[in-house]
Amino acid sequence: MKKTVKGVICAVMLLITVILSACSGMKPETASFEAMDTLMSLTVYGGEVSSQLKSEINKLDSLLDATDEDSEIYRINRDKSAEISSDTDRLIGKALALCGRLDGYFDITVYPAVLEWGFTTGKYDIPDKAALKKLAEKIDYSRVEHSEGHVTVPDGTMIDLGAVAKGYAAERCLEILRDSKATAAVLNLGGTIALYGEKPDKTPFKVGIADPENPAGYFGYLSCGEGIISTSGGYERYFERDGKRYIHILDPKTAEPADNGILSVTVISDDGTAADALSTALFVMGLDKALDHYKNGFKSDGRDFIILTDSGELYVTEGIYDDFTLAEGYDYKVIKV
Ligand code: ADP
Ligand code: MG
Repeated sequence: MKKTVKGVICAVMLLITVILSACSGMKPETASFEAMDTLMSLTVYGGEVSSQLKSEINKLDSLLDATDEDSEIYRINRDKSAEISSDTDRLIGKALALCGRLDGYFDITVYPAVLEWGFTTGKYDIPDKAALKKLAEKIDYSRVEHSEGHVTVPDGTMIDLGAVAKGYAAERCLEILRDSKATAAVLNLGGTIALYGEKPDKTPFKVGIADPENPAGYFGYLSCGEGIISTSGGYERYFERDGKRYIHILDPKTAEPADNGILSVTVISDDGTAADALSTALFVMGLDKALDHYKNGFKSDGRDFIILTDSGELYVTEGIYDDFTLAEGYDYKVIKV
């Protein structure tokens, strides 16, 4: 079940246009390929690293894809105890710490529910109330035992790093770019964007934020420097029954799709794993808790967000408020947080 590849292609085209015009005179190295169940597009200036970036992303995909029988995550879920390589180890450590900090709204043990709803196969099904209760009882990241190089989970618990894999890959790509001769890069990892370096004309990068009601378009633009931008939205993967939409982001407390009036959450951070976990968690917790969360920690970590609600309100944190521009034709009410 592929995402709307057409939408992603449009997003990629726009970003490439943005950087091409900005870095005119310098020929970039480009690559487009499918990985992590989405389309990825890399544009690198001043260094030949795109094949190294692509191999890193493909390596992470094969380690982390919970549906791939050869992946380390599949092995953990099947055998309940497994040795893991350094990348999986580092990501599970970071992800578990984030589960704790995000009050379980982000929970890597949501996988049995993801399976039951059919989001991995496209054979969608709405579990009944009793089944949902049982599924919700199974979700609890604190049951994952992680010690260096090793993970153990009890019977019934399964893990899924799908909500943070692209953010972690973005983070690893920035590390590779820092060790290379590249001077600037725009990486679009299926909606998670990594920006590296500085454009020759010293102006900031400009990134379009997808319109959840028309993901091939943008409701606004953000000027930014180096960092990682992750967006979670109900438009990424969903199904509809009797006029109701069921999305792939689940509330770990109920095992049901998040449904709280938020249409999309974009998080900007220099830590890709955190940006990705936060965009998922803020989407699940809803506006009021997301605002509380911002005031009680998020802000001091230097992270920013853009939250779009179904009433057309756009909440933009003060750290990026002046860098955000609403696109022509959108009349959202922009509220500074
Ligand atoms: P996308 O991968 O489309 O960018 P997300 O980063 O929000 O979107 O991740 C969603 C994926 O993460 C789902 O497909 C599912 O596998 C998993 N997931 C869903 N809900 C949660 C949650 N509350 N916490 C952790 N992982 C989740
Ligand atoms: Mg995420």
